[in-house]
Amino acid sequence: MFKYVNSVLLESGCLTNYLLRQKVFKSSSAAQKPKVCVVGSGPAGFYVSQQLIKAYPKIEVDLFERLPVPFGLVRFGVAPDHPEVKNVINTFTKTAKSGRLRFVGNVNLGTDIILSELREAYHAVVLTYGAEQDREFGIPGEELPDVLSARRFVGWYNGLPVDSNLKVNLDIETAVVFGNGNVAIDVARILLTPVDALKNTDITEHSLAVLSQSRLKKVIMVGRRGPLNVAFTIKEIREMLKLPQCKTVMDPASFEGIREVIEGLPRPRRRLMELITQAALNPPPESWANATRVFEPLFFRSPIEFLKSLRSNRLSGVNIVVNELSGDRAVPTGVVESLECGLALRSIGYKGIKAGKDIPFDDEKGTVLNKNGQAEGLKGVYCCGWVATGPSGVILTTMNNSFEVGHAIAQHMETGLVDISVNKPGYEAISHILGDKGIQTVSFSDWEKIDEEEKRRGKEIGKPREKIVSVEEMLSIAAR
Ligand code: FAD
Ligand code: NAP
Repeated sequence: MFKYVNSVLLESGCLTNYLLRQKVFKSSSAAQKPKVCVVGSGPAGFYVSQQLIKAYPKIEVDLFERLPVPFGLVRFGVAPDHPEVKNVINTFTKTAKSGRLRFVGNVNLGTDIILSELREAYHAVVLTYGAEQDREFGIPGEELPDVLSARRFVGWYNGLPVDSNLKVNLDIETAVVFGNGNVAIDVARILLTPVDALKNTDITEHSLAVLSQSRLKKVIMVGRRGPLNVAFTIKEIREMLKLPQCKTVMDPASFEGIREVIEGLPRPRRRLMELITQAALNPPPESWANATRVFEPLFFRSPIEFLKSLRSNRLSGVNIVVNELSGDRAVPTGVVESLECGLALRSIGYKGIKAGKDIPFDDEKGTVLNKNGQAEGLKGVYCCGWVATGPSGVILTTMNNSFEVGHAIAQHMETGLVDISVNKPGYEAISHILGDKGIQTVSFSDWEKIDEEEKRRGKEIGKPREKIVSVEEMLSIAAR
């Protein structure tokens, strides 16, 4: 009987036909098991799965991921010189190997599978697919080849397949990074770190080759507001102040009156402010005397136009306007300045996108419309992590949010808000849809083959791993 259902589904290639015959499926299945799928295998996907498995012993969780490899921004975002942050992968691996979670890589929500199909197949669907675009300025010249998003630059040095061919020109003396968050600091640090200090990390070889030829002398990091409004954190700025062969230079004028304000700040913020104020106003440490590179945070400035060289299509500079604060907002004064530069990196925040027309979405914020993780108007659909909260917060923030949502889902199953009395086919049905489309799925043990190969290649050149950047190559290793 089951065979009959499968063959109908294979012929029609349509889940609805399959579900029309669900009576057959129902009668062939004895025990009720809640079936949940999670879409996106970054921290949110793994943490919500972990919570669901813990809270609901009978549950079956399927974790779909667009790429053949798991871990989202832990693999493709976290900086290569911060390996300790990636230890969370050990916890995720434990969850994946618990026997209660099925990792299904190389499946893209929106093309390979759509939300309505997942809703038909599972009792609950959790969207955890992050924020894969970035905010733009929308100013002239932003389309120039040397104006890059920090997101893509990060993807380039971290081996994100889609960014592996990014053209990064470091045959220049000055780069400008816009934004005052930790991503801006990450990209500035990677640009200014002596290349020898990166060689033993998991940074990609293609980026190392470009970085080792870099002529860069200065990175200017431009914030639209002042030192009191920075979004970066103390550990990250301290690292910049201690970078070998690099000095930090700031305009003391941006720090006028700041000491009086600092006194009244909560302790963690006060410590951060004291650190940057001291660096700006105190005499420079001796270690900076022989610096060959400069890190220059520049405050109260916004870009208004990227400038093209007269002789080529390359970036030659950027016009910026001086801002003043009105309350918390940066307001342009009309005073315009120019900065010469050959590379500009826009680091003003990531942005989520709608992975299918049936997803309730706030295009402005780039998040799934939701209340405490419950998608608006769609029973049984949940979301957590950056696609739900917006692109801010560290892994710990994402973990807390995902645990809360996981806990809520388990409760909704207990109380009947999510109806688990109906039997659902779960992966049985989805695998047919994927099979019909000829999609090669990647299991967690397939990923472990890729992992092994990356570590093997890394070992040969003294690195923890050399990331494979071609999806085809990943798939061919997975199929071995
Ligand atoms: P993500 O990690 O982005 O995971 C989303 C997953 O969904 C990805 O695997 C993606 O491939 C997948 N996906 C996307 N679209 C689809 C689709 N249509 N179908 C199927 N799958 C899909 N935090 C720290 O604590 N320490 C750090 O050092 C740190 N460094 C960072 C560096 C950078 C550059 C960035 C951007 C962030 C950093 N963070 C750091 C923050 C941390 O990475 C985030 O808090 C966390 O990754 C958010 O988790 P998420 O699961 O919501 O999103
Ligand atoms: P972020 O922390 O939100 O910082 C974004 C920055 O962009 C802010 O300085 C913001 O300034 C600026 N900005 C936004 N719109 C702008 C505009 N139109 N013009 C000029 N500036 C603009 O975002 P992020 O740096 O992308 O980081 C995302 C999250 O990941 C953060 O929570 C971060 O801590 C985390 N992360 C952590 C680490 C780490 O722990 N080492 C590393 C990387 C990322 P305003 O304040 O004026 O809006």
